[in-house]
Amino acid sequence: MGAGTVGIGLHNDIASPYIDSFGSKNQKEKWLPGCVTGDFITAIAMTEPGAGSDLSAIKTKAIRKGDFYIINGVKTFITNGIHSDLIILAVKTDPKAEPAHRGISLIVVEKDTPGFRKGKKLRKVGMHSQDTAELIFDDARVPVENLLGEEGKGFYYLMDKLQQERLMVAISAQTAAEVMFELTKDYVQKRKAFGSSISNLQTIQFRLAEMATEIEIGRTFLDKLITNHMNQLNIVTEVSMAKCWITEMAKRVASESMQLHGGYGYMEEYEIARRYRDIPVTSIYAGSNEIMKQIIAKNILNS
Ligand SMILES: Cc1cc2nc3c(=O)[nH]c(=O)nc-3n(C[C@H](O)[C@H](O)[C@H](O)COP(=O)(O)OP(=O)(O)OC[C@H]3O[C@@H](n4cnc5c(N)ncnc54)[C@H](O)[C@@H]3O)c2cc1C
Repeated sequence: MGAGTVGIGLHNDIASPYIDSFGSKNQKEKWLPGCVTGDFITAIAMTEPGAGSDLSAIKTKAIRKGDFYIINGVKTFITNGIHSDLIILAVKTDPKAEPAHRGISLIVVEKDTPGFRKGKKLRKVGMHSQDTAELIFDDARVPVENLLGEEGKGFYYLMDKLQQERLMVAISAQTAAEVMFELTKDYVQKRKAFGSSISNLQTIQFRLAEMATEIEIGRTFLDKLITNHMNQLNIVTEVSMAKCWITEMAKRVASESMQLHGGYGYMEEYEIARRYRDIPVTSIYAGSNEIMKQIIAKNILNS
């Protein structure tokens, strides 16, 4: 529940849908049943040591030689990297394309591919229940039939699917905020100071009221967006707003919740400590909140 189990959501709602949306009949028959049963765990690998927000600057290359793509490059920060069986890999099939994003394609890499190896499991501040890893491609040989969709369309496929990814991150942050609020509400009712429950103090009550109001705003906004997304409406601007605002709201709730737990909030025995560590990354990944604001501003100015 909340932000810590993001690896499961990433497989179900973010990575596997690429195969469903852009895969050929053969690819779907080969991979989707295993994705559904959980025999195949998926990952989506865009980020590189030198390119995160600026996706069109990726350097991983896939050069066609006969019936294979020869792939060279390094990906980093990849969720499910260690556990993955199938990786949806963003590569440059045309490194000289202008503009650069037109040279990006998506290729499915299977875990036993010669020349492909998983790097170290990265040590993170939080989210310890999901693995994050480097992936290394050193003359990796991938059959051309593993190309997803068409060559040069990868950037457009990513832009399409990033909407659902951002919605999922907003949902996980919203859920995390709701759980943190409940933990805090329980705690302040049980904790006694100066002869009474600290929930009887007006300063505590006001902070609960403020958190509850923000949480309600987040849920109302999300419910509308989920409905619009399921109805296949364009939610690019609103989902960027939701990802940005709700993840910042969840960070405020995490900080306030730890404060209201007093010293116990800083102890690992208390769930709020883990949740406080898990939440900050939600404003960084799936497109940082700075990038979300850029998208919102661009769309507002162009509408
Ligand atoms: C736990 C975790 C899991 C992740 N999982 C995945 C995954 O599964 N797959 C994957 O491909 N990636 C994944 N990522 C990578 C993540 O998407 C990137 O870290 C993120 O996009 C930011 O890229 P960067 O780290 O290179 O930062 P940079 O792009 O270097 O940005 C650094 C700072 O500069 C700001 N900045 C950059 N450009 C601009 C701009 N134009 N205007 C204003 N500010 C700007 C950013 O907002 C940020 O604050 C994960 C990261 C983490 C931490």
